[in-house]
Amino acid sequence: MAIFLDKEHMVQAVRDFSVQVGADLVRLKVDAKRYTVVCANQDCGWRLHASVLPDKVTWAIKSLSEPHSCHRLEHNPMAGIKWLAGKILDQVRANFEVPCQSLVDLVLDKYGVTVPKSTMYKARAEAVKEIQGAHDESYGHLHIIWINEGPANPLTFKRIYVSFDAMFKGFMKGCRPLIGIDGCHLKGLQWMLAICNSPRWKPTNFPLAYAVVSEESSDNWDYFFRSLRLTLATAERMMDFYE
Ligand SMILES: [Zn+2]
Repeated sequence: MAIFLDKEHMVQAVRDFSVQVGADLVRLKVDAKRYTVVCANQDCGWRLHASVLPDKVTWAIKSLSEPHSCHRLEHNPMAGIKWLAGKILDQVRANFEVPCQSLVDLVLDKYGVTVPKSTMYKARAEAVKEIQGAHDESYGHLHIIWINEGPANPLTFKRIYVSFDAMFKGFMKGCRPLIGIDGCHLKGLQWMLAICNSPRWKPTNFPLAYAVVSEESSDNWDYFFRSLRLTLATAERMMDFYE
């Protein structure tokens, strides 16, 4: 008897299974206690029944008919954009521009499902959206560290400045007394990264400090320069300023 952490986990497993065996499933009985699906092909007779266990959280597959053997679907409607996005998340996280063709090959190899390139293009965009949503959430948590404006003000990321002790020591010991400063927009994010580099060995740059800010503004540049001045003035310990 297969056991699942919760209903969502179980439904996801059934969906993966249906894609793998190339079947379109129809939900027969679905409520808080039961989940029964059958093959959309009425001549097939394949059926799966799952129900919730007495703890009302864990689900189990109680019965499963013979191995599914009817005609395999070439384009499975169960393999929708959301489903695909979930399956390619790791590849997209490693490279937002991973070629759609290699993702098409990946799901064909792993799940035996053929997906049009145009569908995969949408799935990749959906995966990027999910990953960036996670970034938004992470930066939201950062804000909690240094500002507590009360429940009336929604928490949003503002800015962070970082210059570690090792960066300063490296600058003092291995770099010429010259500092170059530049900013750029972070790919896929609305925030700007300001980096302070001290070139020593061409063409290498040595980072002395950096900041991530919500937008490019004179206020944020002012913050960056004030923080950098503090780094240069008090360099004995690790610096990590929040504001
Ligand atoms: Zn079938």
